[in-house]
Order: sequence, then structure tokens, then C-alpha cells
Amino acid sequence: MKIASEKEMLDLGKQFAKKCPKVIELIGDVGAGKTTFTRGLAAGLGITEPITSPSFTISKSYALKNGGRLIHYDFYRLPDPGLMLDDLQENLQDPNNIIIVEWGESITDILPENRTKITIKYTNNDSREVIL
Ligand code: ADP
Ligand code: MG
Repeated sequence: MKIASEKEMLDLGKQFAKKCPKVIELIGDVGAGKTTFTRGLAAGLGITEPITSPSFTISKSYALKNGGRLIHYDFYRLPDPGLMLDDLQENLQDPNNIIIVEWGESITDILPENRTKITIKYTNNDSREVIL
């Protein structure tokens, strides 16, 4: 599907929040809009804190109304996920959590098979192709 602006990407994230998958893997280059999608999702889930890229901390988590957490991982340039694997595995156990992952190539084998994969391709300045 064509997403013509940052606002449309935020709206797509908000739409997803209405019937939110438990585990989402975001695929796409730097600047594609993975974190922007996550911002929309978080807004749709009622999170009011600002969502910033977890690149340096690898994960950031936000409280959800159901008692679980939205946990946003970014494994960019992390060849050895090390201890984060335990953290991820533990967070996957809690059915109230929603897990969203950027750059998950190195950890896909611990993500559930039935996760939702979203691929975002840069088309030009403001336009993106999103493949579900
Ligand atoms: P990623 O997490 O994939 O590296 P970000 O979401 O951090 O990407 O950055 C995407 C950048 O592209 C932002 O600066 C955003 O404003 C801009 N942008 C422009 N058009 C779009 C669009 N249609 N969808 C998503 N982001 C867009
Ligand atoms: Mg990002």
C-alpha cells in the first residue's frame, strides 16, 4: 500500500493499535519510517510519552492500560544481542505485552512464527510503500 506522508504513517500505526498484534517485526532501511510507525502505534494504544528511537539502549518500554507494556526494540548494528535475548524472551512470555522490533534479523529465531511483519520501502521524500 502507498503511504504518502509522515502523517499517513502515523495514522497507519494508530489503525494497527485498534486490533494490535502481539509481536510486530518492522523491516526497512534507515529512514524508512519504522520508528514513525511505532509512534503512531503507541499513540493509538494511548501512550502519551514521547517515543524515541531505542538505538543506543536497544529497548524502550511504555506502560499499557492493561498492565502490560509496549516494548520497542532496535537491534541495529548489534551483531551479538547477548543479554537482550533473555530480556526479549522474558517479555514475549507476558501475554499483556506488545513487542515491536526494528532490525530483528539477528533474533528472528526467538520471535514467534505468527508475528506480523511490516516492510517499509522508501519511494521518495515523503512517500513509502508498505507491505504487510
Ligand atoms: P526508521 O526508524 O525506519 O529509521 P524513522 O521513522 O526514524 O525511520 O524516520 C523516518 C523519517 O522519514 C522521519 O524523519 C519522517 O518524518 C520521514 N518521513 C517522510 N515521509 C514519511 C512517510 N511517508 N512515512 C514515514 N516517515 C516519513
Ligand atoms: Mg528507527
